[in-house]
Amino acid sequence: MPEPLTPGELRELDRQHVWHPYGPMPGREDPLVVESASGVRLRLAEPVEGVRELVDGMSSWWSAIHGYNHPVLNEAVRGQLGRMSHVMFGGLTHEPAVRLAAKLVEITPEPLRHVFLADSGSVSVEVAVKMCLQYWRSLGRPEKRRMLTWRGGYHGDTWQPMAVCDPQGGMHQLWSGVLPEQVFADAPPAGFDAGADPAYEAHLRELMARHAHELAGVIVEPVVQGAGGMRFHSPALLRLLREVCDEHDVLLVFDEIATGFGRSGELFAAGHAAVSPDVMCLGKALTGGYLTMSATLCTTRVAEGISRGEVPVLAHGPTFMGNPLAAAVANASIELLLGYDWRQEVKRIEAGLRDGLAEALELPNVREVRVLGAIGVVQLDRPLDAAGMSAASRAAVREGVWLRPFRDLLYVMPPYITGDDDLARICTAVRAAAAAAGR
Ligand code: PMP
Repeated sequence: MPEPLTPGELRELDRQHVWHPYGPMPGREDPLVVESASGVRLRLAEPVEGVRELVDGMSSWWSAIHGYNHPVLNEAVRGQLGRMSHVMFGGLTHEPAVRLAAKLVEITPEPLRHVFLADSGSVSVEVAVKMCLQYWRSLGRPEKRRMLTWRGGYHGDTWQPMAVCDPQGGMHQLWSGVLPEQVFADAPPAGFDAGADPAYEAHLRELMARHAHELAGVIVEPVVQGAGGMRFHSPALLRLLREVCDEHDVLLVFDEIATGFGRSGELFAAGHAAVSPDVMCLGKALTGGYLTMSATLCTTRVAEGISRGEVPVLAHGPTFMGNPLAAAVANASIELLLGYDWRQEVKRIEAGLRDGLAEALELPNVREVRVLGAIGVVQLDRPLDAAGMSAASRAAVREGVWLRPFRDLLYVMPPYITGDDDLARICTAVRAAAAAAGR
């Protein structure tokens, strides 16, 4: 084993050589060095603001729903490691992947029957879009090759996903005119409990009617728009989308990469509306946050359509497709989730976040507090600059909590195993971060 690097050496090498998400080169912020993680706690390599352990408010971006270093998940990886960590998926198959695909078909909405396992959420969206376009091409309608979505969405950072992210103010504005031009509806009216909005419904219907001849699919994040702004909308809108898609011969794709596996209070957010999409993307919490893996599910209609075309295959096959280690831990994570009353735990966290975050509204710079399932959002009155971001994060660290604000948002999605005391601590930290950001 080489000599371990000191935290100082590590930070310096990191700054010189390592890209971080949405970061410049060399890096301008000083990332905290994590030494290990267990349960809901991240252990730092050295104290920061006098604190060595942080309660994780982020579940590593929606993924670590059972917390870190979980004995059952560790054992699943260890067991699989002793058999094989990877084999190619072309011409070969194996139990972890087959089991996972069958399980996903069992727990997702009814007509989804076929599963493409890939390596990240963005790739699963690439595959979903490819499925839609190829379906219509195979049916002799190649002109149906655009996607429709609503503003405020986020679907990943590779090419097709970027093209359906919010085109304004988002991270991918740089590429307008370069990306495929998709059709954008206005952002869905805000609020999970928002009543019917006839004007919005008319807008969607009109847009769909106008573009149906060239639309392959509609893609949205159901109920919760995540990295595009952490906004919630009414499940009734999903029923509307289903109806207009059917009316106009357009496929419906739900990106449940963030919402999947219980986060919004239903196992999948589609469940709030009892609506089934034609294609569904899963990722993040699929492996309990242990390894990178995603899944794109589709109906038999879509699969058979593709397989009847001039190129009668789905032309996609990543090297690490169906990775056995990731599939094994995904199986264990799903079993763990379904083996306890996760619904009750998500409700408990929802109640804790509602209680604990409400007070933040008293701060002059807080515009709105919203909570759904195990997701809590405090929206500030303006976007944070680098100094505000750093002040907010530091204030949370002083409270012993890890948060990662973006734009005008302080948001949390704690692991489902977060106890009430740690949950209260997370809420205190969010309030402290909001107060620090306003100074
Ligand atoms: N879709 C949604 C809804 C997401 O939240 C994300 C990740 N933030 C992605 C797609 C992309 O997933 P990945 O980062 O694994 O490529």
